[in-house]
Amino acid sequence: MKKVPKVVVIGLDAATWTVIRPLMAEGKMPNLAKLMKAGVSGPLQSIMPPITPPAWTSFMTGKNPGKHGIYNFIKSEQGSYAMKYANATSRRAPTVWKLLNDAGYTVGTMNVPFTYPPEPLNGFQISGMDTPSETSPFIHPPELRDELVRHVGGIQLDVRFLGAMSTDERRDQVLAEMKQIDEQWTKAALYILENHPQDVMMFVFMSIDTVQHHFWHHMDKEHFLHDPARAPKFGDTVCKVYERLDAATGQIIDRLPPETAVFVVSDHGGGPTVDRTIYLNRYLAQLGLLHYKDNAVSPLRKLAQKVLRAGFSALRGTLTSRQKTKLAELFPKLREKSELAYSSFTDIDWTRTKAYCSEVLASPPSIRINLKGVKPQGIVDPADYESLITSIIEKLADLKDPRTGKPVINRVYRRHEVFQGPFADEGADLILDWWSENSLFSTEPSFPEHTNEPALSIREHLPQGKAEWGGTHRLYGIIVARAPAFKAGAKIENARLIDIAPTLLHLLDVPVPEDMDGKVLTSFFQPDFLSAHAVRAGAASGTSGTDRPSGYTDEESAKVEERLQALGYLE
Ligand SMILES: [Zn+2]
Repeated sequence: MKKVPKVVVIGLDAATWTVIRPLMAEGKMPNLAKLMKAGVSGPLQSIMPPITPPAWTSFMTGKNPGKHGIYNFIKSEQGSYAMKYANATSRRAPTVWKLLNDAGYTVGTMNVPFTYPPEPLNGFQISGMDTPSETSPFIHPPELRDELVRHVGGIQLDVRFLGAMSTDERRDQVLAEMKQIDEQWTKAALYILENHPQDVMMFVFMSIDTVQHHFWHHMDKEHFLHDPARAPKFGDTVCKVYERLDAATGQIIDRLPPETAVFVVSDHGGGPTVDRTIYLNRYLAQLGLLHYKDNAVSPLRKLAQKVLRAGFSALRGTLTSRQKTKLAELFPKLREKSELAYSSFTDIDWTRTKAYCSEVLASPPSIRINLKGVKPQGIVDPADYESLITSIIEKLADLKDPRTGKPVINRVYRRHEVFQGPFADEGADLILDWWSENSLFSTEPSFPEHTNEPALSIREHLPQGKAEWGGTHRLYGIIVARAPAFKAGAKIENARLIDIAPTLLHLLDVPVPEDMDGKVLTSFFQPDFLSAHAVRAGAASGTSGTDRPSGYTDEESAKVEERLQALGYLE
C-alpha cells in the first residue's frame, strides 16, 4: 500500500502577515485562509539575528545557534580575523529529520536552506540555497536526481542575473525566472508526493524572500525608495508571488488526506528597509576603539583599494548569497584580497584595535572584541571585557536620528543573551537589533579615508538604474498548521521557530531531547490529545560532528566561472 504522509511542512522563506493579511481580506490567498480555518495560526518568532542560515538551522534542530554553530552565511575562523563561508557541514547538532529516522519514520526534504551536502536520510534530501551548483551532488539518493530530471526537468537552484537588475527589462527577466523556479519546485513537490511519499515531508519556496528584498519599495508608498512612476508596473510584484505560492500550497494540500498534519512556516518575516545607514567601523574608529594603519590612506594604497572595492562593491549588491559563497570558495585569493579590502581589514591596525565589525558580505550588524588569548593580536584583557562591552553599548545609543532625536539602535544584545551552548563563543560579542520596528537601519562598509565623516547617514533616494534593496527581514514570521490533534480556527500568539522541531516530534509520539531549546507548542493541541499523550522528555541529542565533504569539483568550478562571466565579474 502506498505510504500516506503523516506530516507535510511547507516553508515559505520570509513570509510575513503584513503582506498576507490584506491579501487574504481580498480573497487572494484562499488556500492559506482555508488552512487557518482548519487549524491554528499566528506569528512565529524567529531566532536572533533573524537571517536564513541560523533560522532554518534552528528550525531543523530545535536549538539556538550556540548549540548548532550556524550564525550567518559566514563564520569566524578560530585563531584568526578571517571569516569563512558556512554550509551544512558547519552544523553540529542533529536534525529533527535524523531523530525521526531513528524513531522509524521516513523523511524527505526539498530545498531547505543550509542542508548541503544532503544528509543520507532514510527517505530523501534535496539541498537548498547553500548548494554550490546544479551539478553538485545535492540530491540524496543520487538516483532521485535522474528521475527528477526525466519527470520534472533539470532543477535550477537560483535566479540568475539578480544582480543585473538595473533596468526594468532585467527586472522582468528576473521575475520570469523566479516564476519558473517556483513552478519547477511545485512540480517536483507534486511528483515526489505522488511517487516517493515519506512519513514526514518538507518543501521550501524561496521566492518571497527574494522578491521582498528587491521589490518591497514598489508596493510600499511610504518607502524612501518608492517611485510612483514605476508603481503601476511593479506595485503588485510582491503580492503576485504570495498568490502564486498560495496556489502551490493549495496544490500540495489538495493531494493530502485530512489526517495528514500540514504546517506552513516562514523562517523570519519581512519588512521595508529604511534610509538610515550606520558605518560601524567608522564609528568605532571615531570612539578610538579601532585604529587604521598609518599608511592606510597613502595614494598608492588608496588606488589599489579602490580597484578591489569597485569589483567587490558590485558583487555585494548583486550576487545571491549562494553565488557569493561559490565565488568565495572558488577564488580564495580573490576573496581574501577583495573582502579584506572591502571590510578594511587590511587597513586595521590590530595592535591598537579593541573592537571591530566584520563588514563583509551578508554580515548582519555585530561587533567583535579583539580579546587577548583569543585573537592572534588581541589587546583587550579579559578583565576589561565587561566594561568595554558596556561602554560600547552606551556609545551605540548616542547614534541618534537627527530628525527625531531618538536612538537608531534600540537594543544591543550581549553574546550570551542570545547564544547559549558549546559553540556560543563563535558568535559575535555584540548583536545589534536591526530587525525591530523601532531599531531599523542598515550598515555599509567603512574606509579609513572617510573616518571623519558622520557614522550615521540618511540615505537619499537612489538614482535610477541601480539595483535596489527595498526589503529586509523582521523577527516575526508566520505559522499556520492543521492536524487532527490540533485546535481548529485558533489564534496562537507565542509560537517560536525553535519550537517546531519538538512539536513535530511530539505529534509523532517521539520523546523530545532534553537539550532542545524549543518547547512543544502545547497551545496547538486539543486538550484531549494532550491528556492522552503527555510530552515525553528524551535523552539529549547532543552535538554531531561533520564528516561530510563539501569541496567543489572541477566541473562545478567551471560552471561557477561561466556564471560569473555572464554576470560580468570575470574577464
Ligand atoms: Zn530566510
